[in-house]
Amino acid sequence: MSYSPYLLKGQKALVTGASSGIGEAIARHLAASGAAVAINYHSEAEEAQKIVDDIKVANGEAISIQADVSKEDQVKAMFSQTLKQFGTIDILVNNAGLQKDSPFIEMSLDQWNAVIGVNLTGQFLCAREAAKEFLRRGVKPDISCAAGKIICISSVHEIIPWAGHVNYATSKGGINMMMRSIAQELAPHKIRVNSIAPGAIKTPINKSAWETPEAEAKLLKLIPAKRVGNVEDIAKAAVWLASDDSDYVNGETLFVDGGMTLYPGFTQNG
Ligand code: NAD
Repeated sequence: MSYSPYLLKGQKALVTGASSGIGEAIARHLAASGAAVAINYHSEAEEAQKIVDDIKVANGEAISIQADVSKEDQVKAMFSQTLKQFGTIDILVNNAGLQKDSPFIEMSLDQWNAVIGVNLTGQFLCAREAAKEFLRRGVKPDISCAAGKIICISSVHEIIPWAGHVNYATSKGGINMMMRSIAQELAPHKIRVNSIAPGAIKTPINKSAWETPEAEAKLLKLIPAKRVGNVEDIAKAAVWLASDDSDYVNGETLFVDGGMTLYPGFTQNG
């Protein structure tokens, strides 16, 4: 990691679904950039504790908090605990997400609700609690020129339709309009709300798409950069969006996808 430990010094962050994959990398990069980090996890207590321990060994500050982000009471309790431990919060990374894939006509209401509940409603619930604290506290110029920053982890599937994943693609499309509407409403209060839309990143959520050479070769046909992304590609973008370096960026989706949304199927000789 090449980040200054002063970039986010004095800031307090909460990353949801941070016990694995992209969330874990974001939490580690925020901590390496000087932020105190609350690691939210759903069921992987040991993994979350390991990340906390690693951050502490590197002289950082971290705690782990169990919560299901789709449950309002658990989200409220998670924010209460974060505020109790850290005093306030400056950065929320809405990362927790899951897939429940199915052909459309076989998709059950439970599969639909589970994905919308975590990926979209979970982001709404966390953003609302974070915004309340940002508004209560306001800007502390020695900490950041913003009253708070929210980063929503979306997906290229917020614009690319995805057969067999209608619940997931719908949740990500919803994040785009939710993120921009919150950004529009809260911008006058110096709160910035942005999204990162990852392309294909090597994590547990999409293991079947890259774990064999055959699967990876098929996937690479969709990626002009000709490599599957790694979690650091996303974490670096998250640090920038969390920092004052991106102070004039609000209501934007940053696609970090190796060109996947350039529709490589349309190249003449690619
Ligand atoms: P992952 O499975 O490693 O991470 C998802 C995390 O969310 C896990 O830690 C899981 O425990 C947590 N989670 C699931 N349900 C939860 C709940 N109810 N409450 C709290 N936490 C919960 O996979 P990942 O790839 O790191 O995914 C992180 C985010 O990135 C997701 O929003 C995903 O949609 C998005 N994304 C991933 C890719 C990719 O290629 N990996 C691409 C685009 C978008």
